[in-house]
Amino acid sequence: MTTEGSLRGDIVEVGRRMYARGYTASNDGNISVRLDPDRLLMTPKSVCKGFMTPDMMCITDLDGRKLQGDRDPSSETLMHLEVYRQRPDVQAVVHAHPPVATGFAVAGIPLTRPVLAEVLTTLGSIPIAEYATPSTSELPQAVRKYIKAHDGMLLANHGALTVGGDLFSAYYKMETIEHFAKISLVARLLGRENLIAREEVERLQQLRGSYGIKAPAPICDDPPDALEDATCQVVDAPAGQGLRLVPDVPGRPSPGPANDQDEIRLTYRELSILIEEAVKSLR
Ligand SMILES: [Zn+2]
Repeated sequence: MTTEGSLRGDIVEVGRRMYARGYTASNDGNISVRLDPDRLLMTPKSVCKGFMTPDMMCITDLDGRKLQGDRDPSSETLMHLEVYRQRPDVQAVVHAHPPVATGFAVAGIPLTRPVLAEVLTTLGSIPIAEYATPSTSELPQAVRKYIKAHDGMLLANHGALTVGGDLFSAYYKMETIEHFAKISLVARLLGRENLIAREEVERLQQLRGSYGIKAPAPICDDPPDALEDATCQVVDAPAGQGLRLVPDVPGRPSPGPANDQDEIRLTYRELSILIEEAVKSLR
């Protein structure tokens, strides 16, 4: 099979997995991959990603002009083009609306706490790109701010975006973000998160090389200027000399009736139901 033929099949497979895992509903989401230095293979507009066939894909140039295909390319083509423009190393882009990660994007809570070693090694931190109207040129602008330093990000009140050195690596990053969001949700329902200390975060990032993972950017020494495009990753890691884990989230009152204003009272039964539902959603 030609490279183009196998890439068409791979996009179909990634779309099927995204739909099967509930990362997209109806016609949501889009997928693209570089065919060669001047052309992209892209999912078409208005089709369910769970039921695509290889012949449905569009070929566009790097300005988004359709070169081949019976259908029109994705309505989020502009966002994909911006990623390829900013990141010559990126070979594939995946966009979906995985519900737990998108919940964080709706709540305005970035996934920047260092709590899982694997996530720190593969993605580092996952920021939220500011809200922009889908399918307009505002969305690529919002993505531009973070894409040079991140392989995955949430899109405020919308979904998530991941990129990779090949199609499956971009897709697996989407899985990692949703899995991370589920675990973060359960930990937050349980009331506390042990944060990995900064020293250990840096050691994990250095290990990327030995796993063959290319880091898009190092961790920021100082919080970057909010107006500038990100050139490093913000990780909310506490400083620690030899200490790997801290027992509580900084700035948050300890579990218990320490702060009446922040306290939410639940009966044991209500709490059990919440935990049970969260665990169910992990399956
Ligand atoms: Zn979308």
